[in-house]
Amino acid sequence: MFDNNIHGQLFIGGQWRDSDSGGRTDVIDPSTGRVIGTVADADVADADAAVAAAKDAFVRDEWAGLSGRERAGILHRVADLVRENADEIVRLESLDVGKPVALCRQVDVVTTAEQYEYCAALAQTLDGATRKVPLNAFAYTRREPLGVVAAITPFNFPLILSTSKIAPALAAGNVVVHKPAEDTPLSALFMASLFEQAGIPAGVVNVVTGSGSVIGEALLKHPGVDKIAFTGSTSIGRHAASVAGEALKPVTMELGGNAAHIVFEDADVEKAIGAIIKGFVFNTGQFCMGGPRLLVARPLYDTIVRILADAVPEVPVGAPRDPETVVGPMAADRHVKKVEEYVALARQEGGRVICGGERIDLNGGYYYKPTVIADLANDSRVVQEEIFGPVLTVQPFDTEDEAIDMANCTPYGLASGLQTTDLARAHRVADKLQAGIVWVNDWAMLDPAIPFGGVKDSGFGREYGPEALASYTKVKSVVVSLD
Ligand code: NAD
Repeated sequence: MFDNNIHGQLFIGGQWRDSDSGGRTDVIDPSTGRVIGTVADADVADADAAVAAAKDAFVRDEWAGLSGRERAGILHRVADLVRENADEIVRLESLDVGKPVALCRQVDVVTTAEQYEYCAALAQTLDGATRKVPLNAFAYTRREPLGVVAAITPFNFPLILSTSKIAPALAAGNVVVHKPAEDTPLSALFMASLFEQAGIPAGVVNVVTGSGSVIGEALLKHPGVDKIAFTGSTSIGRHAASVAGEALKPVTMELGGNAAHIVFEDADVEKAIGAIIKGFVFNTGQFCMGGPRLLVARPLYDTIVRILADAVPEVPVGAPRDPETVVGPMAADRHVKKVEEYVALARQEGGRVICGGERIDLNGGYYYKPTVIADLANDSRVVQEEIFGPVLTVQPFDTEDEAIDMANCTPYGLASGLQTTDLARAHRVADKLQAGIVWVNDWAMLDPAIPFGGVKDSGFGREYGPEALASYTKVKSVVVSLD
């Protein structure tokens, strides 16, 4: 059971409490399919209470009123607590999401601590500017926090993606109501207890667990919310952006992806294979910036398909608590069912399944074999749509221009990447790829200093980097007459 270290309750105004209705939701371990506990199922009254508590904390000015350096000190304490509690975070995130423990420790824990450290540094850079103007006046700008941020996050990287909102929002002096995905609420509740220990004042961060259609929707529409920071699917994001648009609220939209990974004929094939496999199996393919569409220069096509057919079945798939595991279960049974549907569709669309293509029967968990599918047409649904599982499609191309057109041909534009030893080509192609981030000769190179986010149906706004901090502030100009 998960509950020796966390409350399965809502965290509102610094208090742990049950939901107004008393409702509870099951939490399932995806490696066994078994219920491991329950958490509170919030309703609209709880959203109201959380927003009111956040607003009250903002008005009390105990957070925004601190200097950047004072906020930085507290954010550093959060980072320290994340590192000190790494074992427990890994245990919870692995139970909740099915993440392999070794990767979770290396990626989720470290990235979370580093984000708080990076944002602690940024908190001290919130300067305005003075402007020399041809008026008899002294003009300057201030960067001010927005107020109450509703952070709505997805199931696949619960901790990292909530941190990518909460850390910059706090650095800039905002207050937060966080709604984690219904399937994966545990790390959000654990973090609430760390925020308390770090000395973040009551009401500055509130956590409400519950369904998107009830509590998420209530936050989107709440007049007390000043900004919506959303990460999730394009369909829900489109809806969230339209609600925010009606209320003229600032939003960031981190949405779906379906990145192309291009291998040119001059690539270092051995290096490329490692990046290709990492790009589509990382986090069991539940990675918005994964590389599920492999485009290979025709002279290398058969070779790469043959290498993948041998190498992919060797990737260790298994129980998340096994330190050797690289690919764990998917986070919920419905995600495996979706992958099964897409692989069946690929067969109908003329795809050749090179390896994988089926579930793994292990302890009742939600496992699917890493799967490679060759020979699909570019306009097939399996190529065009986001599968969000451990599935790679492989297609040949003949020219650089054709590769770029194929890479850009889906509605998405979150990430993209290429393998080449030709430096000029690397820059030339990166310039043409429609994506928020382009990786050259590796995949998933991420850091809190490097902004990421989408174009086209992958959304807008950037997380990480000073760009994220700026999106949690508003600029005020002050002009003082010298007459
Ligand atoms: P989802 O859209 O189903 O849910 C995301 C969040 O929105 C959840 O907290 C959910 O409860 C909430 N929600 C659902 N309905 C809502 C509503 N009507 N109003 C307000 N909130 C609502 O997404 P998911 O299945 O959890 O996550 C997978 C998707 O997220 C994939 O498409 C993936 O590409 C995308 N994603 C994008 C990024 C990025 O940085 N661009 C990162 C991770 C995941």
